[in-house]
Amino acid sequence: MTSWQGMHITVAGLGVSGISAARALAGLGASVVVVDGGDSEVLREKAAALESSLEGVRVRLGDGDTLPEGTDLVVTSPGWKPTSPLFAAAAEAGVDVVGDVEIAWRLRAPDAPPWLAVTGTNGKTTTTQMLASILRAAGLRTAAVGNIGTPIIDIVLGEEPYSDLDVLAVELSSYQLHWAPSLRAHSAAVLNLAPDHLDWHGSMEAYAADKGRIYEGNRVACVYNVADKATEDLVREADVEEGCRAVGFTLGTPGPSQLGVVEGILVDRAFVDNRQKNAQELAEVADVNPPAPHNIANALAAAALARAFGVPPQAVRDGLRAFRPDAHRIEQVADVDGVAYVDDSKATNTHAAEASLAAYESIVWIAGGLAKGATFDELVAKSAKRLRGAVLIGTDRALIREALARHAPEVPVVDLDRTDTGAMLAAVREARALARAGDTVLLAPACASMDMFVNYNKRGDAFAEAVRELQSADG
Ligand code: ADP
Repeated sequence: MTSWQGMHITVAGLGVSGISAARALAGLGASVVVVDGGDSEVLREKAAALESSLEGVRVRLGDGDTLPEGTDLVVTSPGWKPTSPLFAAAAEAGVDVVGDVEIAWRLRAPDAPPWLAVTGTNGKTTTTQMLASILRAAGLRTAAVGNIGTPIIDIVLGEEPYSDLDVLAVELSSYQLHWAPSLRAHSAAVLNLAPDHLDWHGSMEAYAADKGRIYEGNRVACVYNVADKATEDLVREADVEEGCRAVGFTLGTPGPSQLGVVEGILVDRAFVDNRQKNAQELAEVADVNPPAPHNIANALAAAALARAFGVPPQAVRDGLRAFRPDAHRIEQVADVDGVAYVDDSKATNTHAAEASLAAYESIVWIAGGLAKGATFDELVAKSAKRLRGAVLIGTDRALIREALARHAPEVPVVDLDRTDTGAMLAAVREARALARAGDTVLLAPACASMDMFVNYNKRGDAFAEAVRELQSADG
């Protein structure tokens, strides 16, 4: 284990994860400098609060680029790109750069609970929470951590003794994996791989390689998506412990060493005793909430990790039944005159939006925002036949409008030409005018929200609020 006493650590970024790292490391006796390129009133207040609450922490605002003299280790926050000048300075000085997950991993005691880890372009949070629900149904003490809720360092050092847990369900982003070189999970899953965050990683290859790190050193199972060959390739390239197995999940009939679906039943052909049976029934498709195809895939991945940990079939069923998805993930907010209004504000990229558009038959689609370098041709071409109409908002809406013109010229499109917050109400109004009974008005923006909203939660809230306003105007 690392000794932190007397170490000089530079923390990049005065955000939630930076503050959590600074506190934890100073608490362990390290001398910490938090650097941040910003110098706003809000940051100055945060800096003062942090410096006064803990000895051993100093904050340097207005310069996020130069490496403080004497730094032994840099701990970075997720938003900082690998190309940041601070990291170039660290490389020059021969200083390692790591993230919060690496610190949490190094902080854990030798007898700490094993990690079941989940990554992928989409479905991470849902799958991690499903996994935690299944583990709980098996009577195991667990927590869903990582890229969710409480920063992982706080969990590892938290009041509730971490060592009292049996196992952790850990959601990991590609950023966290990039900066977590020594992490070794019990078992891990990559759910899918589609272009996202390429501006951060630099290329699809670099992004995939970072996701693939989750399999490094796995002990029991590397879980991959049979329909997404890139995930299987990552398993093949990984250096794992002897005896660790590749386990696939599929929405079709499973082959050996796979989990899949047979006549509406989720079945396991990987973790079964072949002398007794060659397939184990786990749950019904109807036990998955909501039972949309992408979400059944998430359930199978969660089940595979739980089964790798030895969870019995019954607990998979009970855990899936007990699971409720988080807000803004294919959440039906109202049914007005036979039209369903569904909030999938969390569909912040084209791959996610494709999954939610595939879950409905006749859709008035509300989309747009920040495209993050994405193109929309494939998404629109695949979804065209399901679209009753489209309403576009946000900065990069022209990209979607042009893709619609190319691949769905007959679909009516309302381009709202607005990026103000009030645009959501106008968008819902336009969508209602386009919708017929039996249709779904679906907010699946395929874009990030930050051009118009603080985050995707606020965007989803604005949608739900707009639907309520229309309802009460009717009433
Ligand atoms: P993440 O944590 O990876 O962002 P979430 O579980 O929060 O993923 O789901 C985000 C969005 O991605 C959902 O609202 C849905 O639109 C879409 N989604 C969820 N699971 C999948 C999947 N397996 N494949 C494709 N899209 C998915």
